[in-house]
Amino acid sequence: MTTHEQTDRIIRFDGGGLPVVSLYVKVEPDGSPHTDGDVQTRVNSLLDPVRAREKDRSVEAGARRSLRGDLDRITRAAADSRWKPGMMALFSCAGHDFFEEVSLPRPVRDRLVVDGTPWVRPMLAVLQEYRRMCVLIADDAAAQIWELHQREIREVRQLRDPALRKPDYAYGMVEHRIHNKGEELAKRHHRRVAATLGDLFRAEGFDLLAVGGQSHQVSTVTGFLPRELRDRLAGTFTVDAATATPADVRQAAETIMDAYEQQEQQALVAEITEAVAERRWAALGLETCLWAGSVSAIDKLAVTDGVEAPGVVCDRDGWMALTGDTCAVCGGATRATADVVDELIEAVTNDSGTVRHIRAETDLPGLGARLRFPLPPKPAVPV
Ligand SMILES: [Zn+2]
Repeated sequence: MTTHEQTDRIIRFDGGGLPVVSLYVKVEPDGSPHTDGDVQTRVNSLLDPVRAREKDRSVEAGARRSLRGDLDRITRAAADSRWKPGMMALFSCAGHDFFEEVSLPRPVRDRLVVDGTPWVRPMLAVLQEYRRMCVLIADDAAAQIWELHQREIREVRQLRDPALRKPDYAYGMVEHRIHNKGEELAKRHHRRVAATLGDLFRAEGFDLLAVGGQSHQVSTVTGFLPRELRDRLAGTFTVDAATATPADVRQAAETIMDAYEQQEQQALVAEITEAVAERRWAALGLETCLWAGSVSAIDKLAVTDGVEAPGVVCDRDGWMALTGDTCAVCGGATRATADVVDELIEAVTNDSGTVRHIRAETDLPGLGARLRFPLPPKPAVPV
């Protein structure tokens, strides 16, 4: 699992003059029929340009030494073959003893980039699709704070406050007083929990919040939440804080996350469909979206999960289409691609747009997009 601190570390890293190697490689499950060579072989060939630069006498000696270290470290990591299926992103700058491995939950294209800083855009594009949810479970004296991210759950913090527990010696006025005292302590506890949560939320960069506990505890805690956290509240659930297992927490949190994401996906598709109907800045369908992507008009792209299509790309100006041996913009030869949707996703990401995969039931015809400006007319495809 990628933590906020890890991505932060990677984003902030600067080689300070030394080259930084960023490598993205797909990891196929064992025995996969679609595999185009095992990971080790693909990593090896991806590293060819690094080898060339490492041998290049015109490159500064310190940089070459660092690259030699990168080659060694990355090759060893690939040979270890302990990567789980999905996508691995590696960032290395041996001269500064910097090496980070990130497992991504969704594949992107195999790619190697050598630059002065880590090439993080594909990683961020994948990660931004996964919300980081803070899960609070509270009773009257204790609180557990968990994080749900990329379908994994981890405990972030525990809080405990003094509480009065079922005083069996108390009765009459004493009982009344103790009861009031207990309520007072519980209230103080809930207020403290809400405040701690506010601090954690900002520090950890959470997107959403879920709150669990007995129903009266849930309503007390949510009542104390600062305004900005109340806006992030995706849902609440009933759970016994004392007996809940991590699996219980995860299941409850995932149910809330799923419902939230479905709703969000449906809202995005509805927004695009409506905008198209009213001739506002939006696009529907593969062909129109490819044209919109070709002119960098896409602000937010909605992609039905699993949609793929062969197509063509012009590497000079970024023109994308389903067919055409020559580019409609510059007239040059196009490159055929097995999946032009993947190219579009990358283009949108490079243009600082966002991409949302739609897994919910919607009427989306494959692709849809919210645009930055109205589309210019499509150029006639040359014959
Ligand atoms: Zn072109």
